[in-house]
Amino acid sequence: MAKMIVGGELVEAENHEVMEVRNPATGELVDTAPRGTVGDVRRAVEAAEEGFRIWSQIPLARRGEILYEGASQILARETELARTLTLEQGKPLRESVLEIRRFVHTLEHYAGLAKNFRGGYVPQLDKNRYGMILKLPLGICGAIVPWNFPVSLMGNKIAPALLAGNSVIVKPASTTPLTSIRCVQIFNEAGLPPGTLNIVTGPGGVVGEEMLCNPKIRKISFTGETRTGKHVMEMAARDIKRVTLELGGSDPMIVCDDADLEAAVSAAAVGRFFNCGQACLAIKRLYLFDSIADGFIERLVNKARKLKVGNGIEDGTLIGPLHTAAQRQEIEEMIQDALGRGAQLLVGGRRPEGAAYDKGYFYLPTLLGNVDRNARIVREECFGPALPIFRVKDLEEAIAMANDSIYGLGSSVWTRNLDKAMKAAERLEAGYTWINSPQIIYDELPFGGVKQSGLGKEHGSEALDFYTETKSVVVTTG
Ligand code: NDP
Repeated sequence: MAKMIVGGELVEAENHEVMEVRNPATGELVDTAPRGTVGDVRRAVEAAEEGFRIWSQIPLARRGEILYEGASQILARETELARTLTLEQGKPLRESVLEIRRFVHTLEHYAGLAKNFRGGYVPQLDKNRYGMILKLPLGICGAIVPWNFPVSLMGNKIAPALLAGNSVIVKPASTTPLTSIRCVQIFNEAGLPPGTLNIVTGPGGVVGEEMLCNPKIRKISFTGETRTGKHVMEMAARDIKRVTLELGGSDPMIVCDDADLEAAVSAAAVGRFFNCGQACLAIKRLYLFDSIADGFIERLVNKARKLKVGNGIEDGTLIGPLHTAAQRQEIEEMIQDALGRGAQLLVGGRRPEGAAYDKGYFYLPTLLGNVDRNARIVREECFGPALPIFRVKDLEEAIAMANDSIYGLGSSVWTRNLDKAMKAAERLEAGYTWINSPQIIYDELPFGGVKQSGLGKEHGSEALDFYTETKSVVVTTG
């Protein structure tokens, strides 16, 4: 049985209840984790208060060293961690390895910023009067993490929070607590003072809700569904908690007639089918210039047919199962809705057949043409391996359709014409635009959505602004 980590100790829930964690590929029990309570969150808050008192006084350079040490200990256990991640989440083992490495990179990135993290100084505000700008930690930060990238998304929150001198309470998704618990444990062993980094497992409606309500938690960083994010923001308003929200997305990809089609086809396949399509940042709507559409679709259909669907733990699997039965049902309903409105099924559109697939939540990569613009798969976030494809006459039409969404997380445009590319980069309503590039995330660049895709930034040095208060100090020298 896995345990929570509070004040540096492995602990059970106060009532000793547990939640089962099951493998999405087989339905088998992987392990159990504590079903935490309101009391458990309060216990973690007490520990985090003590952790903050010590950690915030540790010199910045030393905090950076401990982040580096944690990163290296995680990397040393990459194989064990990746395996647990595949068993609880379902993704192919090679994607789990990539996720653990992404976590390590993020930790190293913020460890590196320790040497460059500073406030400011304003000379001679007045006669004998000088100004300073301090960057101070907030206190206890709550990190609420979803199940699609449990480890790397946790890293986006804990790395800048810890470097800035905060203590943290992590609440992982109820279906993916195991790898996160292990990572937090490794981190505690790497030199964090007890109470600096805690993890409390349990239902969002109990553990998460208490984190939103508890006035001693000064900030919530949340990744998940837009509807939950709105609730987080409402609750945070009660005591003006700081919030960072990374919410849903429906990223458009535009392919112009002068694009490198080979590279674009490959980016579309990876961008839609990575993690079985369960990513906030994923290509969810494809806009093709009319003259290249037929050839592009043919190549993409061929690629989709060849992607091996299976248990993520097996060699060669490129697409694992959906994470839960509910997740698969949601995708099936979205596809039925699109077909009911006249969409053309180009490939997929069903569960794979055979004994190997009976117990898991598998679904074939699916491409749809002639999709109604008001279909659910276009209007809502499609969190699975299905992609609606549209034909457009020019860039104007493509951008107008791309921006016709409540979301604004990622976007991409493929063209050899730099002028077109720059116009698209300026006009696409999104936090990120990739030009002639797959949607790869970099720790160096700030990441966060516009419109209903979120609030605030993760990654980059910008993320540190969301884990600090900026304070002005005036000094009169005599
Ligand atoms: P949620 O937004 O419900 O869950 C994300 C995290 O928030 C989990 O840790 C969850 O805990 C927690 N949570 C849930 N309710 C509350 C609450 N009232 N207070 C505080 N925390 C809470 O997403 P789901 O996991 O339910 O996924 C549903 C859909 O959301 C998906 O189908 C997908 O469309 C979208 N989604 C989008 C993501 C993105 O990155 N854009 C990520 C994940 C989901 P618990 O697991 O215990 O419920």
